[in-house]
This record gives sequence, structure tokens and C-alpha cells, in this order.
Amino acid sequence: MSDLTALTLAAALDGMEKKRVSSLELTQAFLRAIEAANPHLNAFVTVTAERACAMAKASDARRAKKGRVPLPLDGAPLGIKDLFCTEGVRSTAGSRILGNFIPPYESSVTQQLWRDGAVMLGKLNMDEFAMGSSNETSAFGPVSSPWRKPGSNASLTPGGSSGGSAAAVAADLCLGATATDTGGSIRQPAAFTGTVGIKPTYGRCSRWGIVAFASSLDQAGPIAKTVEDGAILLGSMAGHDPRDSTSLAQAVPDFRKACGRSVKGLKIGVPKEYRVDGMPAEIENLWTQGVAWLQEQGAVIRDISLPHTKYALPAYYIIAPAEASSNLARYDGMRYGLRVEGKDLTQTYEKSRAEGFGAEVQRRILIGAYVLSAGYYDAYYLRAQKVRARIAEDFTTAFAEVDAILTPTAPSAAFALGERSGDPIQMYLNDVFTVTANLAGLPGISVPAALDGAGLPLGLQVIGRALDEETVFACAAAIERAAGFTAKAKPWW
Ligand code: GLN
Repeated sequence: MSDLTALTLAAALDGMEKKRVSSLELTQAFLRAIEAANPHLNAFVTVTAERACAMAKASDARRAKKGRVPLPLDGAPLGIKDLFCTEGVRSTAGSRILGNFIPPYESSVTQQLWRDGAVMLGKLNMDEFAMGSSNETSAFGPVSSPWRKPGSNASLTPGGSSGGSAAAVAADLCLGATATDTGGSIRQPAAFTGTVGIKPTYGRCSRWGIVAFASSLDQAGPIAKTVEDGAILLGSMAGHDPRDSTSLAQAVPDFRKACGRSVKGLKIGVPKEYRVDGMPAEIENLWTQGVAWLQEQGAVIRDISLPHTKYALPAYYIIAPAEASSNLARYDGMRYGLRVEGKDLTQTYEKSRAEGFGAEVQRRILIGAYVLSAGYYDAYYLRAQKVRARIAEDFTTAFAEVDAILTPTAPSAAFALGERSGDPIQMYLNDVFTVTANLAGLPGISVPAALDGAGLPLGLQVIGRALDEETVFACAAAIERAAGFTAKAKPWW
């Protein structure tokens, strides 16, 4: 088989099953690609070459046995966002404060991937503690998108916080990757890099062993090359886990099969509140095009209203920092990670946290502590929680009428590194179409749908009812078929 790294996950699994390629050959092809690209893209913060080859050899040995039933991901080389704890392999969450933290345990999601035969290539760069939209808050430096504007040498952001995951998938450095999404961190980087990103229903994937950012919003999901690949990966990542009390005791549906479902007769909602000021006409037009694509395949389009949308970002940027300030209290230099000695205990705490956390994380901790403090709690935190309830109600009302909702994924295409890093509000505005699904706990997917005039990918988002990823996959596959998006970043590395 030629050009192994360009294969989709589905094609690679099929190739291994038919003995056209071994997992070791695939794994070595990816390791070579990573070696060549990573000095330029900075997508991986740790490459686990030896472990990858050992896992690949074990997979090949499994496949060589007669009469065995193939594991769902047997031999598939994947990248893992560095927010997932991996036993015996440094897991940093993109932060100095975790330093050389080597977890003595494996996250449930990654454990399930290894159970299903996948191979770990390494750990992927990300915004520090997943706080960011451009991968520029990482203690390991930003990730460069494999995409560039034609004729330009300027480095673009792959999006964030799962920028390493998106860049690695888009640049063919792995067959697929894990990611997490608290306010858009799977879907926005997918949109910026021409890849597919799925945030499932809150509770679909276990959060156990994933470094916590905002626990009521965090969800794991895959970034993949195609909708079908995303469905295959989510099938392994999802499932009930008694170690996470918010994990849902629900059977995992056959997501892959759902990709083949027709959208005929499905009612698709188009929310008027998502037409925001300053959105490029190209994105508006693509949205209209997406509506037409679904309509042509038999879906019925309905205009809907999600009236509290405009309060979603402000509510998110209160709730997420509030939870973060509490979750990040554990990094005190005492038990693991960075410790900077002071003259007494308090000063050791202060110095460890001041040196260990970057500026954006410190900003979130300050905001979070403020909105939770006596006197401000009612004015900010409690109000934000009420807004969150209204936003969830908006969706409940809408889903009484429609089966899925179509929106753009992000209000712009990828921007240049440095372009927005000085202005947190500008950065936060990126999440305007994605945070609502987190606040309401709903599944959402981003599908690459077109290139803009500057040659950069744009994504469309489908949001579904809680636990109805199947309809989301069906709609996404329909968009994928109609869009025929095959563009790839031209290697410059
Ligand atoms: N960009 C958002 C933030 O900075 C979302 C991040 C995420 O989903 N992890 O909080």
C-alpha cells in the first residue's frame, strides 16, 4: 500500500485485516512523518516511539492468530491529547505546573482505546489546562497549523485547545486523535484544520483520568479525518464507567452504522440567533449551502429560535473559570508537579503556583475565585447558572420541533498566531457557536465543508439531542457526502 499516512482509519483497519499492511509498517510510517514534521508543527510534546512499536508488534501478532475476532481498532496508530493521563508516560496538560508528572494510572478513555487494540504514537500539544482557542497558552509553545494561506509563510493557529490533535490529524501524523471539549476545543480546531471533531453528550465518555478543567462541561471525543472515522473512534472511547459519577449508564450505539442513515424526513433547525455581527459573508453563505445540502437529501428545514444564545458566552466565562479555580486548587507544589521552595508553606504555595501557571490560567483562577466569593456569588455565579438553565430550556423547546440543529462551527477561519493572543475577549468570541452545546450537555460535531477565499477550511456544526449522536452522525455524513471536501494542507515542513 502506498502513502500509508494518508489513509483514513477505516481504510487502514481494512488494509490490516486484509494483510496488505502491518501495524508496524503503519506505525513506523507515522513515526517517520512525525520526526520530519514535528520540529515545524510542534504538534507532539512527547513521542512514544518504542511503546508504539511494541504495541504495533503485539497487534500484528494478534492479527496473525487464526480464528480470532479482530479488535475494533487493532493496530491503529493514534495521538493522545496531553490532558489524558497515560500510565508511565509524562502527562502535562500543557502546563509547567505538571512538569514531569508521570501518572501511575491510565485514563478510562485511553484504556478503552488500548483494550480495542490501538497503538499510542505519543502525547499531543494543547492549550494549558485546555484553556484557549489557539494553542498559544501551551507551556510548550504554540502548534502551527499545517494549513497556510497560499503564497504566505505566516503560521496560522490550528485552533485550540486541542490544537495538537487537530494539526496531527490534518498533517497525517496519526490516523486519529483524542481531544476534549469544554467550550469548543474539539469542534473549533477541527473546523480550522479541515478535520472532523465530535463532542458527544456530556457523560458519554468517562472523565476519569482526564485532567479536569471545568468538570460540568468537560467531555472527551475524537478528532478524525472523516465522519466514519470519528464514529469508529467514539465507539471505543464511549461507555459507562463507575469511576466517573457523571458517566451515563447507557449502551454505546453503533455510531458507524448511523453514518449510513438517511436524513430523509429529519427536521433540521436553523437558529436565527447564530447570525452574529461581523461574521464573514463566506461563512453565512456556507451555512445556507449546508441547509441546501441537507434539504436536497430529503431533510426538512425549520427556522428556530434559541433566544438566550447571546448570554451563553458570558455565562460560560463565569462557570468555566469558577470550576477551574476549584479544580486547579490541587496544584500546590506538595504532591506532584512543580514545587518552588519559599521561606514557609504559604510562600511555597505562592511561588509554585506563580511560576507553574501561565498568564491565561492565572486569569481564569482569579476570575473564578472572584465570582465564587462572598458578595459576588449571587451576582455572577448564581446568575450564570440560571442562564445555563435557560439555554438548556431553549434547546429542549427547539428539539420538540426539530431533530438536529445546523450552525457554522466558528465565526471565522483560522487566524494567524499572535493575531489575537493579546486580547482575551477577542479570543473568547471564537467560542460563540460552540459553548451552548457544552452548557446544555448536548452532542455536537464539526464537519469540514469548504475552503474560504483565502484557501482555509471552514466547518459546519450539527448539534443533536442528548444521547442522540446517531442523528448527528447521519447529518454530518450527509454534509460530508454533499460537500465532497477533499482538500489537504500542502506540506511546507
Ligand atoms: N476556548 C474555550 C476556553 O478557552 C474552550 C476551551 C475548551 O473547550 N477546552 O475556555
